[in-house]
Amino acid sequence: MKKIAVYPGSFDPFTKGHENILHKALPLFDEIIIGIGVNTSKTSLFTLDSRIAHIHSLFDGVTKLKICYYKGLTTDFCKEHGANYLIRGLRSSKDFDYELPIAQTNKVLQPTIETIYFTSDSEFIHLQSNIIREIYKSGGIIDEFVTNNHFLVHA
Ligand code: ADP
Repeated sequence: MKKIAVYPGSFDPFTKGHENILHKALPLFDEIIIGIGVNTSKTSLFTLDSRIAHIHSLFDGVTKLKICYYKGLTTDFCKEHGANYLIRGLRSSKDFDYELPIAQTNKVLQPTIETIYFTSDSEFIHLQSNIIREIYKSGGIIDEFVTNNHFLVHA
């Protein structure tokens, strides 16, 4: 059976931390789908199309990687794509405390899904999309935090 994983998130924007997690996960799966979750009650800083184009630019030619967006439950999105694994990144025990109940609840919703955690390398542990958004909104340069960020378009 093909090992298909979903890496879900809002990726607003996709940081060097997310990139780090994906590089670790890629050799372990036959296919990875980056699922950009669209939350209708939350406005994002960067347009969905530009977030997709941005991630494409980082993994050009990686055929086992797909980038999609979805609305609704992550477990339904996994089912739709035949994915039995969810990828999540851990920066700290705080992330773990947040992630564990989500993984356990997802397991109840869809028992075939296993959540796999990858720990962030130390140089990326401080990276948080919300902080990077604030820097960007205040006119700061985000090159240190987001590769190829010229692909991103302000919504
Ligand atoms: P959310 O929308 O749930 O806040 P994000 O889009 O920020 O999620 O991130 C998606 C995933 O990437 C989560 O598992 C999150 O823990 C992980 N992640 C975010 N930033 C980093 C980082 N700097 N290093 C490793 N993992 C990260």
